[in-house]
Amino acid sequence: MKLYYIWHATGQKMPYLVVYSPECGSLWALMRQIGEYVGARQDMPKTKKGEGVLTLVASPLGNDLDLSPRAKREIEEADLIAAEDTRRFWDLCRREGIRPRGRVVSYYDQVEKEKAGKIAKEVLEGAKAVLISDAGTPVINDPGYVVVNEVLDMGGRVTACPGPCAAIVALALSGFRADRFCYEGFVPRKEGERRKAFKRLLSEERTTVFYESARRLEESLKEMEEELGPERRICIARELTKEHEEVVRAPLGEAASLKGMIGEIALVVEGSPKKPGDARDFVEEAEKMARGGERLKDAIKKIAEREGFAPRELYRLVMEKREK
Ligand code: SAM
Repeated sequence: MKLYYIWHATGQKMPYLVVYSPECGSLWALMRQIGEYVGARQDMPKTKKGEGVLTLVASPLGNDLDLSPRAKREIEEADLIAAEDTRRFWDLCRREGIRPRGRVVSYYDQVEKEKAGKIAKEVLEGAKAVLISDAGTPVINDPGYVVVNEVLDMGGRVTACPGPCAAIVALALSGFRADRFCYEGFVPRKEGERRKAFKRLLSEERTTVFYESARRLEESLKEMEEELGPERRICIARELTKEHEEVVRAPLGEAASLKGMIGEIALVVEGSPKKPGDARDFVEEAEKMARGGERLKDAIKKIAEREGFAPRELYRLVMEKREK
């Protein structure tokens, strides 16, 4: 028999003495017993004997301390680990002292379709598989959707070991309403699509989160100001969880002149204070513009964009009135 003192990660000596004998089993079993003793909830989602499972493991956005104890355990106990970048995965394991016992395969966007079926098949045959991306939560603008869909389609089990996600951290830190929000992924690269995406926010009452690259940030902010006006507020969340974390909240009029922001960036746009107009109130204005020489279609488009409703609704109302 051996006597162990348990040290908490903060360096505090925990007030428990644990008598450990090899019959207790593995170290995990011991930790589990301790967890139960101190009242911690450490039960993993239950799997039937021999049942496989795909676990989506969230990884740090840049601060290794954000890797959860459960994430470490899932990685160590998996039969198969699908990692977005195996080199980065092994670096993380080295830094964190994780020793995976399973096979490690690369799983990135370009090979998703080809590899998803094989991984899903292994899960259906009883493998415990883990999917981990370079940073944050798999599937969220990262590989994963195809294999999750495949496993579910085949009647298999998927579970998650949750953790960091830049969109959620940025949203929470923005100080904007988060009771309802939209996630738009990366800001489109092409100017036309970008402006369209920003225009849609004119009447969007919910807070909206985007990912953006530092290289295109200045251009995007300028166009956003042109589309949404200088008053609308935005939050630029940069290098979250890292040494140079910065969260800037400002009206677009000020934010558009920010220069030299580098690193990983998430943008949070405050919801519109303006409710979309009621198309019925603008039938007369559209007719007046048409009488003044403007094409009816163009007049309707202009009004609908300004007021934040679908042009076809106003078109329908104008036609209805004309037919009366
Ligand atoms: N799956 C990840 C997640 O859960 O957040 C997102 C992956 S996506 C490929 C990477 C983008 O997320 C980056 O280009 C950046 O826009 C955003 N991002 C990642 N880490 C970040 C951080 N530390 N601070 C701010 N944004 C970050």
